[in-house]
Amino acid sequence: MGQDTCLPSTRHEAKLSDSVYYYTGRPCKNGHTAKRLTKSGKCIECNKLWCQKFAAANPTRHADSYAKLKSCYPDKLAAQLKKVREWAREVGYARKWRNQNREKARYYVRTRQIALLKAFPPWADVEAIKYEYLLANYVSRLTGIPHEVDHIIPIKNPTVCGLHVPWNLRTITKEENRLKGNKLGDVW
Ligand SMILES: [Zn+2]
Repeated sequence: MGQDTCLPSTRHEAKLSDSVYYYTGRPCKNGHTAKRLTKSGKCIECNKLWCQKFAAANPTRHADSYAKLKSCYPDKLAAQLKKVREWAREVGYARKWRNQNREKARYYVRTRQIALLKAFPPWADVEAIKYEYLLANYVSRLTGIPHEVDHIIPIKNPTVCGLHVPWNLRTITKEENRLKGNKLGDVW
């Protein structure tokens, strides 16, 4: 543990120097000779074990709290999501992610294209579909608010499969489209 010996040797010293860890060189009550967290005085090995135990005892913790938040405070959640989305746009998160995950990004685009093709029956009215996209473009330019063509019944949803046909298309704002995602929205 060469690098640990450079750490402050007492918790008090660590607090004074704003160090996250300190290293006493003495074993903890469970016999680990490891660095300790200044915040709690816990050794990092004990802390790791505690985290693992907690995660094992509460496997659905994240999903549970999300579901609870969603049912009790839908507006609050929407506001929070909006904030996160604005932050992501500001720091260019999507572009960074695509650059770091080129394979995955390509895969997502491809799956989307395949889903579109599958949902596009040969008898679909191509002109009417094109019109819907032109309309979205036009409304965007007219209002200055980005609009997109939405599949009213999603073409990628686990339970139903909408079609890429005129009567399943509508123009909505990009914002609304992001909120909707793959979900069925308010059609049912
Ligand atoms: Zn320990």
